[in-house]
Amino acid sequence: MKYETVIGLEVHVELLTDTKMFCGCKNEFGGDANTRCCPVCLGFPGALPTLNENAVEFAVKAGLATNCRIAEYSEMARKNYFYPDLPKAFQISQHNLPLCSNGYVDIEVGGITNRIGISRIHIEEDAGKLIHADEADDYSLVDYNRAGVPLIEIVSEPDIHTPEEGRQYMEKLRKILEYLEVSDCRMQEGSLRCDANISLRSPGESKLGAKVEIKNMNSMKALEKALAYEEARQAEVLDKDGKLIQETRRWDEMSGTTISMRGKEHAQDYRYFPEPDLVPIAIDAKRIRNIKSGIPELPYEREKRFIREFGLPAYDSIVLTSSKAIADFYEKCLIEYDNPKAVSNWVMGDFLRIMNDRGLSIKDIIFPPSYLIKLLRLIDSSAISGTAAKQIFEAMFESGKKPEVLVKELGLEQISDEADILELVRKVIKDNPKSVKDYKEGNNKAMDFIIGQAMKASKGRGNPKVISETIKSILDNM
Ligand SMILES: [Zn+2]
Repeated sequence: MKYETVIGLEVHVELLTDTKMFCGCKNEFGGDANTRCCPVCLGFPGALPTLNENAVEFAVKAGLATNCRIAEYSEMARKNYFYPDLPKAFQISQHNLPLCSNGYVDIEVGGITNRIGISRIHIEEDAGKLIHADEADDYSLVDYNRAGVPLIEIVSEPDIHTPEEGRQYMEKLRKILEYLEVSDCRMQEGSLRCDANISLRSPGESKLGAKVEIKNMNSMKALEKALAYEEARQAEVLDKDGKLIQETRRWDEMSGTTISMRGKEHAQDYRYFPEPDLVPIAIDAKRIRNIKSGIPELPYEREKRFIREFGLPAYDSIVLTSSKAIADFYEKCLIEYDNPKAVSNWVMGDFLRIMNDRGLSIKDIIFPPSYLIKLLRLIDSSAISGTAAKQIFEAMFESGKKPEVLVKELGLEQISDEADILELVRKVIKDNPKSVKDYKEGNNKAMDFIIGQAMKASKGRGNPKVISETIKSILDNM
């Protein structure tokens, strides 16, 4: 390896509080521009902020779940900079005394566990959103609905060494935060965002190389691609004996490259000082214990429990616990049905596929977990075939109707009646003399073909067992 890659991530997470960080405005995504603003979040002179207690609790939860030390005393600080989406011309954040520090999360890449340090988690407010008009027009619009939305910033140590590790770390954080229910973690809506610092150095070198910050990565895939691109770009510059400069670059999804934006600012450029309009935050040990007791089972623990309790393969367990909502749905199914692997196959397979195809989230599912179990019981009792079950399952996503109702509506009852099947099979045998001859000459595969034709003729409704038995007995007696 010619160079060692050193990556640190700064992850911004919008918190799911009812109201904004320092005022009573509703904290919600979207809506008509500038309809959720007040003098406080618009930075009117004389308007005073009040700290949102829930936001602090959510941040403490995130800190505890990532093994951080929680500060019993921390304070808010002003970060001064001018930008049109920041109406006060400063952001209220934290600087020297953050709420959480010295944590870590473990990630697994290629069977090896890596511990990624978290240097700090601090709380701050989000900025508004600029909406740029077409290039031909020379103006931009600004929407302050997002101004003042509570954020946490999770800053990792530079412990990440490959683009894949970067994505794994980010996915791990997303899972944890989603389980804690402190954020909806929708990267496409910006409630989970990430900036990366990346530099290269010769192996064994202790000093970091020139650090490049990458912004604007809107998905896990984009993060991994941007890091890989930047890693290669920096190696190429160094190979040519070129010098890298400390700068901020933007990921451009269309071209698949990073583009220079500006030289990097330093902390002193922000002229931080303690926020004079807010008192420091004091949280005692008892309060921290209380918050800790409200932390649910975390994804890693649940993953291990699914393997232990339900005897699932590790792969199933990882997929099922990748989201709390999916894991909850799965466990609810098991209340009434004692075959964890069969349910896992359906949830990991058709359930997730249909949700993906239709862009659904679990909130959009209009039938209860018990309906999936009703469907499995219909298969078990041979009332429907596996093929028909898939069709019925699709229909459940649309109508939310009970599977037994859909069986009737769609005419998918399994044909097990021997007389019906005999008639069907006789016709298939008559229509396929070549395969019959092949079978008689010892080609057993020809039988599979005939069974397939019979299933097809029954439109997937024939009972496969009865069909194959019938075919075998006719052919063997010919
Ligand atoms: Zn407000």
